[in-house]
Amino acid sequence: MPDNAPTKTVTTKRGYSRTVTATSISYQCQWCYQSVTAWHFPGPKPAYCEDCRNGDIHRSVAAASIARKRDQERTDNPPRPVGRPRKA
Ligand SMILES: [Zn+2]
Repeated sequence: MPDNAPTKTVTTKRGYSRTVTATSISYQCQWCYQSVTAWHFPGPKPAYCEDCRNGDIHRSVAAASIARKRDQERTDNPPRPVGRPRKA
């Protein structure tokens, strides 16, 4: 593994954290069809190059709107405990 690979520390919902290391991947952008080599953290491969992702304003606006709506719904309806309540 190269020494200059970027790393990041992720914290899970359960409260523990670990460090993940990016790997160098090559992929073809599904929008402009250019071949891209980039650092990539574990997960699904990106479909678009960074330029196309940053240039897609509409997508990011829609995503922000959906995220905002989801957060709002969560605030309005907090998750309920699952299962039968225990007897005191
Ligand atoms: Zn592209």
